[in-house]
Amino acid sequence: MSKPAGTRGNLKLRLTPAAERAVRGGHPWVFANRIREINRPGTAGELAVAYDRQDRFMAIGLYDPDSIIALRVLHTGQPVQLDDDWWCERLAVPLRARAALFNESTTGYRCVNGESDGWPGLVLDRYAGCFVLKLYTAAWFPHLERLASLVVKLCQPASLVLRLSRNIRVAAETLGLVDGQVLRGEAVSAPVIFREHGQHFEADVIRGQKTGFFLDQRENRRLVGDLAGGREILNVFSHTGGFSVYAAAGGAKSATDLDTSAPALAAAKRNFELNAHLPPVAACAHQTIQADAFAWLVAKARLQFDVVILDPPSLAKREADKLEALGSYERLAGAGAQLLRPGGVLVAASCSAHVKADEFFSVVRRTVRRERGGFEEIRTTGHAPDHPARIPEAEYLKCIYLRLR
Ligand code: SAH
Repeated sequence: MSKPAGTRGNLKLRLTPAAERAVRGGHPWVFANRIREINRPGTAGELAVAYDRQDRFMAIGLYDPDSIIALRVLHTGQPVQLDDDWWCERLAVPLRARAALFNESTTGYRCVNGESDGWPGLVLDRYAGCFVLKLYTAAWFPHLERLASLVVKLCQPASLVLRLSRNIRVAAETLGLVDGQVLRGEAVSAPVIFREHGQHFEADVIRGQKTGFFLDQRENRRLVGDLAGGREILNVFSHTGGFSVYAAAGGAKSATDLDTSAPALAAAKRNFELNAHLPPVAACAHQTIQADAFAWLVAKARLQFDVVILDPPSLAKREADKLEALGSYERLAGAGAQLLRPGGVLVAASCSAHVKADEFFSVVRRTVRRERGGFEEIRTTGHAPDHPARIPEAEYLKCIYLRLR
C-alpha cells in the first residue's frame, strides 16, 4: 500500500526542462539524470510529485531510486488524490476497453498493457478464470496488496498469479514475493486452458515465457488461419504451436512446428489434441521438430512448403544489437523464402523494439526479392488492439505477409 497521507508526505521532485517538456507531452518516464532536485531520499514505489519552476503541480508517479527510470508517471495535469476510487477507475478504463473487444470465443487476452494503458511497468493478462499480474519494476511492490484487491474486485478471478521480470526477482525475495506465486484464489497446478477465436490452448502461467502464452500474436494467427486452407505450413519458432493450430483449423493439409524448446513442442502436441474435436484439425498432419532454426532452415533448403512463418524471439535486446539483428532477420527471410513453392506465402514477424517496422519490412522485402524475384505484398500488421502502443518505446511487434509469384 502507498504511505497514508500525512505521515511523511509525498516525495517532491523538480525536473530538468527537457524532462518537464516530455512529461507535459504525455511521456510516462523520467530518467534519473533528469531529476534536478528531490526533497529527501525516497524508497522504491513511493509516490512522488513533480513541480515545475513556478511550483505548480505537474505530475504524480512512482519513484524508484534503483532504476534508470526514476519516476513512472501515473497522472499529469490537475493535482489529484490517488485514493481507492482513483485506482479503481484507472483499472476499470482498460478493462472496459477489452470488454468491447472480446466475447466468450476469446478468453485469453491482455487486460492492461503497461505504459500504454496508464500502468507503467505492469501487465495484466487474462486466461479464462486465471489472471496473471506481471511486474517489470520493484516500484509496484508496496502497492501489491491494493492491486491484488482491485483485480479481485473488478475481475473476480478464480486465481491471480504474480509474475516478475528477471531483474526484480532478487528485490522481490527480500519481501517474500516469488515469481509464479498465487496472490489470490485457488492454487494453479496445471496449465490453464483458455480460448482464442474458438480454439483451445494451454498456458503455463506459472513458468511459461511472458505470462504463459504469446497473446500478442493472436491477430496474426487468425490471418494465417485464413490463408492456410489446403496448404502445407512450416511454423518456425513455433513455441506451443499457436500459428499451426489456427492453420489446421483453417484447413491446412499439414503443419510442422519447429522450436528449440522440448517443453514448448510437447505443449504444441497437447494444443492440437485440445482442438482434435474440430474436423479440420483432426485431418491435419501435425509434426514437431526440435532444432535450431537457423541451422535447420539452411540444411533443409530442398523441402517445400506453401506457407512459412518466422516468429523469432527478440533478436535485439539492446540498441547495440540492432545491426546484428537485421542480419539475422535477413538470413531467416532468405532461408524461409527458399523453402516456399511458387505462389507460397512468407509470414515474417519481429518483436525487437530496437528494430523499427520500416527497417524490418525493408530487409524482408529486399531479401525475398533477391532470393525469389517478384512477390505480391499482402499486408503488414502491427499491434493488436489489446496490446496498444501509445509511446514509441512500447512499439515492438510488426509482421509482413509476402506472396511469391
Ligand atoms: N510463434 C509463437 C511465439 C514464438 S516465441 C506463438 O505464436 O506462440 C519464440 C520461440 O522461439 C520460443 O518458443 C523459443 O523457444 C524459440 N527459439 C528461440 N531461439 C530459437 C532457435 N535458435 N531456433 C528455434 N527456436 C528458437
